[in-house]
Amino acid sequence: MTEPITCNLAENALDYLLLAGEQAKEGSPRMLKHALATLADGVELLLKARLEMKDWCLVFKDVDQANRQKYEAGDFQSIVFEQAVKRLENICSVQIPNSHLAIINKLRQLRNRIRHFAVSTDNRAANSLIAKTFSFAIEFVTEHLQAVHGELDDELTRLKELLFDYDAFIESRMEEIQSELKEAYCVVRCPVCLQNAFVLGDDDPVCKFCLHKTDGQSAASEWIDRFGRFQSLKDSLIEPQIRGCPNCGIEACVDMNIETDGRRGHVCFVCGEEGRYEQCATCSNFCPRDSLGGMCVDCRQHFASSND
Ligand SMILES: [Zn+2]
Ligand SMILES: [Zn+2]
Ligand SMILES: [Zn+2]
Repeated sequence: MTEPITCNLAENALDYLLLAGEQAKEGSPRMLKHALATLADGVELLLKARLEMKDWCLVFKDVDQANRQKYEAGDFQSIVFEQAVKRLENICSVQIPNSHLAIINKLRQLRNRIRHFAVSTDNRAANSLIAKTFSFAIEFVTEHLQAVHGELDDELTRLKELLFDYDAFIESRMEEIQSELKEAYCVVRCPVCLQNAFVLGDDDPVCKFCLHKTDGQSAASEWIDRFGRFQSLKDSLIEPQIRGCPNCGIEACVDMNIETDGRRGHVCFVCGEEGRYEQCATCSNFCPRDSLGGMCVDCRQHFASSND
């Protein structure tokens, strides 16, 4: 029988990633070199952490030698990278895309060279490799670690905060998600990472940059908390910043006018529909601004039929 999950490895892996991020942000060639090596170790720990969640025995190179006492003492030969990738795929149904594997392999090669030789790396190439690996790490932690073991929120938040402030990461990540953003129904600024990558209307809102995901109505409140104008409670009752959407009817329609310097009107966080709306003078529902006489279609029809 396997014992309960301890998840020391997951926390440890995230700690390595944080350290690598701090080193990378410092930016000197020496610190970038350390960041590369730390990051490579962190990635291997990430894979092991996922295996540990399934069963700690899987972290042993030879599962037949698995022994709890030795495991806790760290006195054993642990799985090598290629083996970990295979076990993740075969036993945990975790598939690492080839594009990511190529980046990780490049990073590991470089780490080995750094460990054994005096390696000089080109700063730009190093930054780019580090940034791409962090992209993989954030996705892996969110999808495969946090989803299985919810207690990593604090560490993950700290890592994200660190990366949102690391220019090379922002640039590389935005480039990576560009095609997804182009295909998206509607994109607005993300209330968590502040990037223009929060996708609405296709499904529940999700940020392609930081992977923040929530339902449409919560997203609308988060967005107003972050970007809306300050309002007293009384004002918010008189003139709420989240209104019923003329398209889907759900209270998730937000005025983007101020945050976008007038480039956008109202956007619904549930259906992703966008328009310039105002309140109907008669029923006070939201309706497209160009509707005649400040009256919505329903009220106008009602008005017309009652005058027949
Ligand atoms: Zn985001
Ligand atoms: Zn809507
Ligand atoms: Zn009306």
